[in-house]
Amino acid sequence: MNAEASHPEIREAVRKLCAGFPGEYWRALDRDRIYPTEFVRTLTEAGFLSVLIPEEYGGSGLGLSAATAVLEEVHRSGCNGGAAHAQMYTMGTILRHGTPEQKAKYLPAVASGALRLQAFGVTEPTSGTDTTRLRTFARREGDKYIVNGQKIWISRAEHSDLMVLLVRTTAREDVAKPSDGMSVLLVDMREAVGKGLTIRPIRTMLNHATTELFFDNLEVPAENLVGAEGKGFRYILDGMNAERILIASECIGDGRFFIDRASAYAKEREVFGRPIGQNQGIQFPIARAYVQLSAASLMVDKAAAMFDAGIPCGTEANMSKMLASEASWYAADMCVQTHGGFGFAEEYDIERKFRETRLYQVAPISTNLILSHVGTHVLGMPKSF
Ligand SMILES: Cc1cc2nc3c(=O)[nH]c(=O)nc-3n(C[C@H](O)[C@H](O)[C@H](O)COP(=O)(O)OP(=O)(O)OC[C@H]3O[C@@H](n4cnc5c(N)ncnc54)[C@H](O)[C@@H]3O)c2cc1C
Repeated sequence: MNAEASHPEIREAVRKLCAGFPGEYWRALDRDRIYPTEFVRTLTEAGFLSVLIPEEYGGSGLGLSAATAVLEEVHRSGCNGGAAHAQMYTMGTILRHGTPEQKAKYLPAVASGALRLQAFGVTEPTSGTDTTRLRTFARREGDKYIVNGQKIWISRAEHSDLMVLLVRTTAREDVAKPSDGMSVLLVDMREAVGKGLTIRPIRTMLNHATTELFFDNLEVPAENLVGAEGKGFRYILDGMNAERILIASECIGDGRFFIDRASAYAKEREVFGRPIGQNQGIQFPIARAYVQLSAASLMVDKAAAMFDAGIPCGTEANMSKMLASEASWYAADMCVQTHGGFGFAEEYDIERKFRETRLYQVAPISTNLILSHVGTHVLGMPKSF
């Protein structure tokens, strides 16, 4: 399966690397919700997290299509890229909108892994998906901003040196368009924690190192503003396309993991004197999962190719994330059913991957919001909000 896939050398190298991180490794971390430090270090050192950083800044500059190959193979191998994927794309905000000084200061260190830039602070408890109503406010005072507010579901904050943070710098009531008046700040977590920033981990149904953040008069140097003040919402939207396409590729990898496992098990498990996969009630759901995943994979490839060509791809990024997350969830459910009772046993890794892949119908954007984008922006129907 997937013999025609792009970037075969990258895929082969990632598979080799992942073989060093088998199910036992992930199960042990999952039980205690521990960050996969060793896995992330190995991926970093192998250069797989810097594929989107141009060569002039020390990355390999291979583009998003190569990055999707990396994450798909990570997930197909039973590993999870969620602990590291944001190191690939969060830097895009600096790359696209930073000053030459910011790029020179941060990008080479992000490329080498010396700096971890993998926290991305947008979501807030009161505003949810309605980003323009976020309340975290940065007030300019001389050469710094004073930040107050709260964020939720900010992943990897405890494992990041820097965070890209979206704040209001002008109140919503005082701007012409709700999306105006927001700005992007680069927060140095090493300076901030304990001096105005408190991080509280949230235990969830999967091992994802996600947290809640509290800002209480946190001081951020004004030179850490990325791009123009008040234009931050647009910069964040730019970065979201890469994030959605990469997460879609993780779903494709998850789906392949489930299909690989289910088809192998269905050939080998005998009940009533024949392999269960001979029964069409078992065989057809596996085949259907393959068909659905193959179609979703084409959309991911298309979105990544458009992104790499510099063609606007917001709709394709959204559609690929939706199709891939639904295909991986169908495959997850099918895989549990195919395994009968063993689907629930921890040592098979299926129940862990089942929990992990469920996330992607909600984050980084939920399915309803994607349907709303297509309904209104593509098909021109009226907006519900
Ligand atoms: C494990 C995890 C990690 C995350 N990591 C990060 C991170 O690193 N950084 C970050 O900023 N955020 C992060 N998030 C937040 C994530 O992006 C949001 O949870 C997601 O966008 C949904 O927002 P919400 O939870 O506020 O849901 P809400 O906005 O409260 O929506 C709840 C439900 O209602 C639906 N809904 C809302 N409005 C409408 C409407 N008008 N029409 C139809 N349906 C609607 C939504 O689709 C959703 O299903 C993470 C979340 C999780 C669970």
